[in-house]
Amino acid sequence: MRYIGEEDVRGVLGYEALIPAVRQGLVDYSAGRVQQPLRTILRVGEGGEEQKGWFAVMPVTAGGVMAVKTVTFFPGNAVLGKPTHLAMIELLDGQTGEPLAVMDGRLITEMRTAAVSAVALDVLGRSGVRSLGVLGAGVQARAHVESLRRVRPELGDVRIWSRTRRNAERLAEEVGARAAEIEEAAAADVVVTVTAAREPVLRGEWLRPDALVLAVGAVGGELRELDDRAMRKSTVIAESRAGVERESGDVRLSGARVFAELGEILLGKVAAPAGQVVFKSVGMAVEDLVGAVLVWRGLGGVG
Ligand code: NDP
Repeated sequence: MRYIGEEDVRGVLGYEALIPAVRQGLVDYSAGRVQQPLRTILRVGEGGEEQKGWFAVMPVTAGGVMAVKTVTFFPGNAVLGKPTHLAMIELLDGQTGEPLAVMDGRLITEMRTAAVSAVALDVLGRSGVRSLGVLGAGVQARAHVESLRRVRPELGDVRIWSRTRRNAERLAEEVGARAAEIEEAAAADVVVTVTAAREPVLRGEWLRPDALVLAVGAVGGELRELDDRAMRKSTVIAESRAGVERESGDVRLSGARVFAELGEILLGKVAAPAGQVVFKSVGMAVEDLVGAVLVWRGLGGVG
């Protein structure tokens, strides 16, 4: 059995292949072709909520293969100069159960999350979007600027806000964007929330009436990133209804209802909504599986 490190993952994984693969994974999930229980989540470590870590196990079987990801989120790693999210993915043959490979899952997690949002933008974004507001300046912020520009190259006005202004400036310089105040970033055509906030940072009053919000952070039933107004005035589309109804504090605590899964829209079962839309993701194992399969095949694996 083979071990695949992050550098090898980086060498073969690109958004050109990952975005359509994730799109198909979302379709398969909503069509009932994926076996994927809700993940097991453990809270670990000492101290207050801010210091504690998050350890999840995510099994899945789809398309003749099986995978399991273990993933950790330790927000305190940022000050240690370590990634806050770390992961490992095991890929197994769906016919024999044989392990095919174990691979570093950090970059796959980073990229598949941004690929899911890219699919959501492609499906839910109205024509003529020009501006992108990014709340957050970490790993997901950087990945999202790249993945979203892939599906909408016309997003020429990219405004980045972060809690620490210098981080927003640094990222803006790196990706050809500009640092902005939060109100201005939130008033963009498309707004991505990629912070590790525990309380709302995005206020509904700042949003355009036809804004598309790609809500990625606040993964946890008690966590918030969007306020009640942003949630209640929007049509909420979920990556997975079961996932967000359990793991999104923005959905659970605001009383907002999930209108449809993105896969249901892709399947043509539900029309894409007009007006203000929030797409909420919390991450799914099938997205990791499709990423891991691309890596495995890209490195010459068969099956
Ligand atoms: P990083 O640690 O790389 O970046 C975190 C960002 O959040 C930084 O910009 C930081 O600001 C900001 N931040 C931290 N605490 C707060 C706070 N209290 N209020 C406002 N901003 C804050 O994390 P990632 O980019 O990897 O992840 C971002 C979010 O996305 C997390 O919530 C994570 O759980 C979620 N996520 C969701 C996934 C999904 O599938 N939906 C998958 C992976 C991650 P600064 O440093 O500038 O102060």
